[in-house]
Amino acid sequence: MMNTENLMRQAREAQKNAYAPYSGFKVGAALLTCKGLVYRGANVENSSFGLTVCAERIAVFKGVNAGESDFKALAVAASGSGLIYPCGACLQVLAEFTSELAIYLAEGREGFRCFSLNDLLPLRFSLNQ
Ligand SMILES: [Zn+2]
Repeated sequence: MMNTENLMRQAREAQKNAYAPYSGFKVGAALLTCKGLVYRGANVENSSFGLTVCAERIAVFKGVNAGESDFKALAVAASGSGLIYPCGACLQVLAEFTSELAIYLAEGREGFRCFSLNDLLPLRFSLNQ
């Protein structure tokens, strides 16, 4: 059984694989499926800055490409000691698959805080409104 500390540890592990030579800002994400599998992502920057992709979206895309669409929780770890929130684009991509996602954000070396997707993106784009 995957607990929150373990998922956060995986996000911190994923962070090591970030490719961030321009900003130095490394982010790791670990996305837990309802089946208990974890898909990891880290940000990948590009010299054409607009092509950079966030850790969270890489984790989601890896999961979806593996046939997953039921996600339960996301852990995110980022450079620095402050709380870093996922960007709006990543939250919107997550909302495509679930509205009940728990989101754990690293705070300091060991800590984290818990949010939900609804906390962070209460009003979102949908074709079904
Ligand atoms: Zn993002």
